Amino acid sequence: MIKIENLTKIYVSNKKNEVKALDNVSFSIADKGMVFICGKSGSGKSTLLNLIAGLDEITSGDIVVDGNNLASLDSSSFNEYRNKLIGFIFQDYCLLDTFTIKENIELSLNLVGEDNTEKIKEILKKVDLEGYENRYPKELSGGQKQRVAIARALIKNPKYILADEPTGNLDSETSIQILNLLKKLSKDKLVLIISHSKENAYEYGDRIIELKDGQVLRDLTRNQVEGNLIYKDTIYLPLNVKLTKNQLSNVNEKLKTGKYSISQEDNMYVNTVQPVNNDHKETLTKRKIMPLKNLLKLSKGFSKNYNLSLFFTSLMVSLLVIMMVITQVFTAFNGTYLIGNAIDEDTTE
Ligand code: ADP
Ligand code: MG
Repeated sequence: MIKIENLTKIYVSNKKNEVKALDNVSFSIADKGMVFICGKSGSGKSTLLNLIAGLDEITSGDIVVDGNNLASLDSSSFNEYRNKLIGFIFQDYCLLDTFTIKENIELSLNLVGEDNTEKIKEILKKVDLEGYENRYPKELSGGQKQRVAIARALIKNPKYILADEPTGNLDSETSIQILNLLKKLSKDKLVLIISHSKENAYEYGDRIIELKDGQVLRDLTRNQVEGNLIYKDTIYLPLNVKLTKNQLSNVNEKLKTGKYSISQEDNMYVNTVQPVNNDHKETLTKRKIMPLKNLLKLSKGFSKNYNLSLFFTSLMVSLLVIMMVITQVFTAFNGTYLIGNAIDEDTTE
């Protein structure tokens, strides 16, 4: 599970020029399904995905993945996180031109010397590119390149697949192939995908998180209970939803019976009920020394937490009282000593 809490990202290019790309964003994502992040250009989609992938630094707030707070991981567990838990797919594929397909995939495995031939064969079959091992990226179409990129992400068997506009450079037919492939993968993994196309999001998404100016504008989940579209004797056909061929023929069949009425009310998606976090155990090692940044965060947390600050105030007051008592005792002791001296002086006179 990915839990995002009060996440803010500010880019500072110079002191006068700050961009708040994410503004106090909070939500959680379960471990399976296809979740779309939508929104206009500049709304903060890539920033969000990059932060989750550990590719950029958080300004404030937390990202907790499988119980691991990314800010508290040491560098080796952070690398483990990026390499094993996350598979990232880029819009422009990011394949190395002078390497074969096999070598491109092998690179992400980081296991020099080990024979990965069988493993790579298997993964290429999965993305429908059987026998393409020895080709070069320039010999492939855009859609094929993106499938290699997906294979490269999959070979590490990551728990989460993150894709930043993976169909952005592809024609609509090829986009559908890629989306179908990702949809298939989302049956047992989380596929978190950024898309410009709201149409694709509503057709393929189990959940759609829409960003605007760095904040969550909408967070909708496909309505499971009401069976996508038809509920009781009503067929819901909202305006922003394009039907697939199957849905269309299903709707036509129902209409022929004459028992159903049509509503344009949006019943396909409902407001998301945030999934509950049940990752209590941390799966990666934690940093032993708390970084200064986190200490600062902690002290900020204290100032926000009334009970804690009350506790600390009482502690400080008690300490002060104890100090005063000790000072009093010392003063009293000095006093008797002086009095004693004075008496001595008196008696000698
Ligand atoms: P999207 O992916 O939704 O198009 P981004 O997350 O890329 O949006 O950007 C969100 C905002 O942050 C934009 O205003 C963008 O100009 C700004 N931004 C993104 N990356 C940087 C950066 N490295 N430095 C400064 N500003 C940035
Ligand atoms: Mg972007």
